Amino acid sequence: MTAKAFASSADLADQRQTLDVLADGVYAFTAEGDPNAGAIEGEDFLVCFEALATPVAAREWLTRLREHTDKPVRYLVLSHYHAVRVLGASAFGADVVVAHDKTRELVAERGKEDWESELGRMPRLFKEPDSIPGLTWPTLTFSDRLTIDLGGGRGDLVLWHCGRGHTEGDLVAWLPRRRILFAGDLVEAQAALYTGDAFHRDWATGTLDRIAGLGAETLVGGRGAVAWGREAVDAAIAQTRMFLEVMIREVGAVRDAGGTLRQAFEAVRERLAPRFGGWPIFEHCLPFDVSRLWDELSGVERPRVWTAARDREVWALLQG
Ligand SMILES: [Zn+2]
Repeated sequence: MTAKAFASSADLADQRQTLDVLADGVYAFTAEGDPNAGAIEGEDFLVCFEALATPVAAREWLTRLREHTDKPVRYLVLSHYHAVRVLGASAFGADVVVAHDKTRELVAERGKEDWESELGRMPRLFKEPDSIPGLTWPTLTFSDRLTIDLGGGRGDLVLWHCGRGHTEGDLVAWLPRRRILFAGDLVEAQAALYTGDAFHRDWATGTLDRIAGLGAETLVGGRGAVAWGREAVDAAIAQTRMFLEVMIREVGAVRDAGGTLRQAFEAVRERLAPRFGGWPIFEHCLPFDVSRLWDELSGVERPRVWTAARDREVWALLQG
């Protein structure tokens, strides 16, 4: 048996990129399980949501967006600190880069390590990595909620921290009038969850409860297709919650019985693979997910920093 290629390092096939117009002036950019992005038109400006992994990758999205609008980007909103979401920021020429307070702290604390880790795990997403000028620093941060008036009778865009989840500082972007939600990696429609920096128990309970409580009718998750309609939105949230609950239950049971991390990993995989095994990044994410959850259940409050070296160690231990 040959060894499994590390993370997504052997995934080299480009995904088909789609721009969906969700409503007048509201756009989603999806790519079959690669990180999604979005944009919302204000009266005379744009709000862009997520920056992708490099300026070159971001420009592919901006080229598509420019077929619809030539308004300047006033706000670039980052849902969280992960490299594949933020390092393309310079391509947007935004006046303001918005994120949660914790996101700025996390960039300072572990942004460099995360960049190296994600580049090693998902090299295909880093189109022309040398085009990245450096870490992306938010210029406007908040702790709970920030409202952007879109002007011209377009209503508000509400940026909201729903609690700890995929990271310590996720935000979602909510258009109440349109009932459209950009959920970042807090909800995945048809892709496996990455939980290597997560707070599983908060995420599976209060955080997802708050997201569900918005009553969105269109949802753009962090990866995967747009969820159109209330039923699809509820299904995406339920799938996300189920993924987390199965992990918490299985890892908890193995730990309580005095088992090993490897046994916990096998148990989770056995339970989740029938439903999620064919989804993008499932095998890639699972070792990192189980490793963090094991720590969380062992009382390690904040996720340990992933470095390129630690990535390889955990991979060898669980997927080797
Ligand atoms: Zn992420």
